[in-house]
Amino acid sequence: MLRNAYLKRVYDDTVRNNPSQPEFLQAVGEVFESLETYVEMHPELEKAGIMERLVEPDRMVTFRVTWEDDQGRVQVNRGFRCQFNAAIGPYKGGLRFHPSVNASIIKFLGFEQVFKNSLTSLPLGGAKGGSNFDPKGKSDNEIMRFCQAFMSELYRHIGAQCDVPAGDIGVGGREIGFLFGQYKRLRNQFTGVLTGKSLRFGGSLARTEATGYGLLYFTEEMLHCMKNDSVAGKTIVVSGSGNVAIYAVEKAQSLGGKVIAMSDSAGYVVDENGIQLDVVKQIKEVERGRIREYAERVPGAKYVEGCRGIWTIPCDIALPCATQNELDLDSAKALVRNGVMAVAEGANMPSTTEAINYFLEHKILFGPAKAANAGGVATSGLEMTQNSMRIHWTFEEVDKKLKDIMVNIFHQSEEAAAECNAPGNLVVGANVAGFKKVATAMLAEGIY
Ligand code: NDP
Repeated sequence: MLRNAYLKRVYDDTVRNNPSQPEFLQAVGEVFESLETYVEMHPELEKAGIMERLVEPDRMVTFRVTWEDDQGRVQVNRGFRCQFNAAIGPYKGGLRFHPSVNASIIKFLGFEQVFKNSLTSLPLGGAKGGSNFDPKGKSDNEIMRFCQAFMSELYRHIGAQCDVPAGDIGVGGREIGFLFGQYKRLRNQFTGVLTGKSLRFGGSLARTEATGYGLLYFTEEMLHCMKNDSVAGKTIVVSGSGNVAIYAVEKAQSLGGKVIAMSDSAGYVVDENGIQLDVVKQIKEVERGRIREYAERVPGAKYVEGCRGIWTIPCDIALPCATQNELDLDSAKALVRNGVMAVAEGANMPSTTEAINYFLEHKILFGPAKAANAGGVATSGLEMTQNSMRIHWTFEEVDKKLKDIMVNIFHQSEEAAAECNAPGNLVVGANVAGFKKVATAMLAEGIY
């Protein structure tokens, strides 16, 4: 419930103007609640209409994607690109290919991206895009034809100095390669127009690992500074088994943590001996199979149908790395009951508002997505830098910069929380720290 009259008015207008967009309204509501104290301290924001401007994307492009499947049938999907805000740099944000994709999901992701990108301290605006295309079960040729059709419209709206998309759910190295190839063909330009590219044509070392590794660098710093503790020796549960989850597990294990469960959208596996990541990589990255197969291959591991139950497994640290709203109030209660000490979000908005409030009320360390998972976009920013300079940094160089950025994001968030009389509340801290830079740039750039 918002107490500030300005924020309440803008929020109510946003609700009226965006019917049937629950995810977008959830993201706006969370950010506004965090900004109350800061907005009260800065009356110039209302005068300049900053909040009204922030909730309205610069533009939202919707387009038809027509492609042919392997049986020669014509298929039609819907494509989106939401260019939310470019106050501090060119638009930047991933592309999601998943049947659930709609305008609300793309707008919530684009809105969050604005603040996340600001937190990285790199010059990046916020955007997001994607399609309701389902890559599951499609052949490589079908994926290629879809990506080419998608880029045949998207290319008009993006560019290395204007908008640089990357991957997200359902968009990994294979899809980025097809998208990049088509952009190059249409524009006849070899530019850094997408990030997450293969190392053979302009990609950055450590981009694949970046979101998961970054999540653990953030978590380690949070544990160290707020509890004088560390990941070493902790029992950890990670949801998902995609890009973010796999590299979160890899870094958690290298820091001495014991990961005992992972999931996909059908169910989860528990391995009390510690997840064998090489088996997960083989199933997910090589065979594009299901997490269930882990329990068929590893003696002692068990598979449980349905994904929500993963949060009933007792653990010290929970890392939701799958999708939005995967961790609800009941899941939060189960985690707290079982003694969880820290939760850090690898996915975007994986915890519901009620779950977040429950964690905060129970003094659980909570690393919100826009801070904790910013390592992916930060390393995409580093890929853009390398492309512009036409150089390649080593894995160690990129990894060191990533770690520095994540540690810095934690400290910016912690300081901003204290500044707004909410010490230790990193939700408030991350939102305020991300917002400040964007709002200051918007004020300086005049009314538009
Ligand atoms: P992937 O497509 O690589 O993996 C997604 C994983 O989540 C899959 O294992 C998928 O299972 C699983 N999943 C989807 N829905 C559910 C569900 N309801 N319950 C349990 N598991 C589920 O995506 P990413 O790893 O790239 O992205 C994961 C999250 O991280 C997203 O929220 C994304 O926005 C966010 N993120 C990603 C970044 C990146 O660099 N890739 C950067 C920052 C954030 P299945 O195969 O069954 O669908």
